[in-house]
Amino acid sequence: MDKKDIDKVKLLLSLPKKIVIVSHKNPDGDAIGSSLGLYHFLIKLNHDVSVIMPNDYPDFLKWMPGQDIIKNYENNKSLAEVSIEEADLIFTLDFNSLERAGEMESCLKQSKATKIMIDHHQQPSDYAAYMYSDVSISSTCQMVYHFIHMLGKVQLIDKHIGTCLYTGIMTDTGSFRFSSTTSTTHKVVANLIEKGVDNSEIHRNVYDTNSFNRLQLLGKALNNLKVIPELKTAYITLSQKELNKFKFRKGDTEGVVNYGLSLKNVVFAAIFIEHKHEGVVKISFRSNGDFSVNEFARTHFSGGGHTNAAGGRSNLSLQQTVEKFISILPDYKKDLNK
Ligand code: 5GP
Ligand code: MN
Repeated sequence: MDKKDIDKVKLLLSLPKKIVIVSHKNPDGDAIGSSLGLYHFLIKLNHDVSVIMPNDYPDFLKWMPGQDIIKNYENNKSLAEVSIEEADLIFTLDFNSLERAGEMESCLKQSKATKIMIDHHQQPSDYAAYMYSDVSISSTCQMVYHFIHMLGKVQLIDKHIGTCLYTGIMTDTGSFRFSSTTSTTHKVVANLIEKGVDNSEIHRNVYDTNSFNRLQLLGKALNNLKVIPELKTAYITLSQKELNKFKFRKGDTEGVVNYGLSLKNVVFAAIFIEHKHEGVVKISFRSNGDFSVNEFARTHFSGGGHTNAAGGRSNLSLQQTVEKFISILPDYKKDLNK
């Protein structure tokens, strides 16, 4: 965000406003962390702030400070729509195209509020009056930190804000190991720890609260893992039946795709998860190096994301989706073997 825009946003935030913060469907750690981090910051500036998510999010994120104020659009559409209609300002965090807000898309489109985007995904759409979009930054949480810094208010960051921001930086960087993790990322989390954030407790809250069923489901997923060595590709499938057997709960498959990528000589990994009631197969793609899963997901599976992490979907059956995937792959043989 350039200085001119920052000055305008500063002016907008100089008097109490009705503010709504929204994030993307199937919110992850970065979506919830950035939204709640910004929420705690804005209430310190005396704004009236609501946080609305398009749908529910995993239990391993339901400990964050302020999480009880989050409204789930699916549970109370009219209440959420009134907040959006009455808002002066809407922050859209961790997404850059309104369709990513699921069913909230149309009321967000209709809203007259001034929209401010803070996001790190590729190819942003042009719906916001103010855009802070930077694909080089690890996470939206890190961007919220920089945003607060640009507003000259870094002294307002406290343990609550810091805890929320740390969580999203940690989850989006795979605990500081993805290449999006820079020295600046480490400086930001160092500052957050100095503000009182308990980094070790956050890791335990997010990663050490597995259920027995979740681990059994992981076992099943690893059993289903297939490797195509000549294309340096690995993929996993999980059918609705398998999910049911292990009493699948939202978030149980988070991170499973990374096991494919952990194989030596694999640069491209995918997981295909059948959601029968919605009639879709949800897909996560991950890569190491230059192979752009954002392009792959956009071109073939109505999705998108980042160079090394993207998602998509298919309305075909699970088996047909995998067949489609396998049939496309040889076109990328050169790129995968670079
Ligand atoms: P995941 O595979 O963990 O669901 O998502 C990986 C990344 O891709 C995340 O940054 C997520 O926001 C993005 N992403 C996931 N699904 C979609 C999608 O359907 N469309 C777009 N544009 N991005 C997605
Ligand atoms: Mn993110």
